[in-house]
Amino acid sequence: MKALKYALIATALTSAIAADAATTHGVNPANIDPSVAPQDDFYDYACGGWIKANPIGDEYARFGTFDELGENNRKQLRDLFDQLSASEQAKGSVGQKVRDIYLLGMDSVRLNREGADPVKADLQFINAMKRAQLTDMVIWEHAGIGSPFFGCGVEADMLNSNINTLYISQPGLGLPDRDYYLSNEGNMKEIRTQYVKYLEDIFAMSGYTKKDAKRAAKNIMALETKLAEYSWDRVRLRDIASQYNPTDVATLQANYPFIDWNAYFKGIGIDNVGQVVLMQPDVMQKVNTLVGTLTDQQIKDYMAYNYLSSAIGYLGDDFIQRSFEFSRLISGKKEITPRWKRALNVPNGMLGEAVGELYVAKYFPKEAKERMLKLVGNLKKSLAEHIRSNTWMSDSTKINALVKLNSFTVKVGYPDKWRDYSAITVDPAQSYWTNVKGMIKAEAAREIAKYGKPVDKDEWGMSPQTVNAYYNPLANEIVFPAGILQPPFFDFEADDASNYGAIGVVIGHEMTHGFDDQGRQFDQDGNMTDWWAPADAEKFKALTDILADQYSSIVVIDDLHANGRFTLGENIADHGGLNVAYSAFKKTVQGQGNEKIDGFTPDQRFFLAYASVWAANIRPEEIVRRTKTDEHSLGRWRVNAALKNIPAFYEAFSIKAGDKMWLDPAKRVTIW
Ligand SMILES: [Zn+2]
Repeated sequence: MKALKYALIATALTSAIAADAATTHGVNPANIDPSVAPQDDFYDYACGGWIKANPIGDEYARFGTFDELGENNRKQLRDLFDQLSASEQAKGSVGQKVRDIYLLGMDSVRLNREGADPVKADLQFINAMKRAQLTDMVIWEHAGIGSPFFGCGVEADMLNSNINTLYISQPGLGLPDRDYYLSNEGNMKEIRTQYVKYLEDIFAMSGYTKKDAKRAAKNIMALETKLAEYSWDRVRLRDIASQYNPTDVATLQANYPFIDWNAYFKGIGIDNVGQVVLMQPDVMQKVNTLVGTLTDQQIKDYMAYNYLSSAIGYLGDDFIQRSFEFSRLISGKKEITPRWKRALNVPNGMLGEAVGELYVAKYFPKEAKERMLKLVGNLKKSLAEHIRSNTWMSDSTKINALVKLNSFTVKVGYPDKWRDYSAITVDPAQSYWTNVKGMIKAEAAREIAKYGKPVDKDEWGMSPQTVNAYYNPLANEIVFPAGILQPPFFDFEADDASNYGAIGVVIGHEMTHGFDDQGRQFDQDGNMTDWWAPADAEKFKALTDILADQYSSIVVIDDLHANGRFTLGENIADHGGLNVAYSAFKKTVQGQGNEKIDGFTPDQRFFLAYASVWAANIRPEEIVRRTKTDEHSLGRWRVNAALKNIPAFYEAFSIKAGDKMWLDPAKRVTIW
């Protein structure tokens, strides 16, 4: 259910303020490649300079403006952590936890000395299990370690968004998407062959005999392939309403008896379960049948792998190296992420707000929040005007849409109250993985404890240092962490065109998520309610079908097409974000004038600023992976495909019929 938070970009890479990331303010002419005509390929024109000046490093699958900010941020975090490490921290303090978990991750000598030792006892425990203990095993792994056979998580109830409920979903897979098991696109066949070898190796490295490791790998691949076949694909998963199936424990027990459900809920920490939400009942049915056909050994191998795949990143270098060798087939990376960055990710993620509190105090200017709230206000007004003046919606639906817009909660910078991490302990006497496992379990327990309780609306879904933003339909809120409020997204010193084209579109993008194919199904309170007149809903579908088809016609690499149905919500958000931010910009003094800066008109600067946000180099393998797994279009198409529906863009760059950037007006679409 975490998928229901609509982030601006897929990666939750943490990052924050880099005050000197840009040497110029606003649109940087050096980002442009003057050898490309904007009418031919606007992305290559607007970003080509940046792309040439920032070749992709070996450790990256993609390196773009977002990643550049992330990089600056990590360096600043490292300084903070080094300062913490240099001084004594009181035992049990947040400083001690951050410091010690970071240092454990940095201690390569110890990690290599301990090797597979930290997982051996748990693997023995799994292998000693009997079939009758299946429920206990699932409970043990669902405490944050893995999601064997099904997933389980707490989130606001879609029909009563003030109260948290429990969602039961289809299981996770070892490979990035079901297609990697079932399709022969790209190098997927080769990936499958190598996956089995990889599984064999990590089991052998964990102490299994060669023969047992071979058997385990075979069992896991066969079982996961079945689960992939059962699983809903990502387009079907966008259909939220069909996944709201409230179910009581007696019904679960009657329909899916492979688990003792009363024992399960008690085991994960819930004493009195009323109703839960079953998301894909047909998948659960098939899993139930499948489990009946599995041998004890097949179950144990699958459980062991679910465990091991969580642990592997926190073991010795041989594990890291082997895991990298396999994963590079999927990502295209040429080099392992440096140790300090991997080590930093743990406190930055698991103690994210504690790190964020230190970070904000040092790097986030107060004025940024005020300026941002003002921008959000202007964007809100602009979206309201777009709703009022749109030509396809009836008045009654417009009124409901405006009510929803006016009810948005806006969060900027960092939370008003910081999270308490007292339940998390870090003990350097224990191994790195033992500590990380403890942290994961504490986090899982914290989440589960929310079941049946009122939703804490003050909570944030991203840490303040994150370079990203999101809309949460269950709270009807838009959230902009401090991390994204820096150049090139947001710059005090820049002209309005640059700010509206970048952070302005980001704000408009998040707002539009409230009115995309999924977001529109939720009302002003975050409840799944149909507030649309049926004829308006039909018109919305017809318009968004056009947008989906536009994107599906894009060839991203070789003969692989973009998936316009899967990326529809994000493409609607980019489309609305551009339209709404452009209108808001046209109300500024600069927007109404015609004064050129660096040779560019205000409108040109708006669109150049927008494009520069998506400048990136990306590896071919990563193009495939993202096309299969990321609901956002690739940066190139967030620019070139999105702009073809924006009339002002054609005017700004004199794009004419016959130009490659030209789309026949009859084929263009205006939704928001
Ligand atoms: Zn988005």
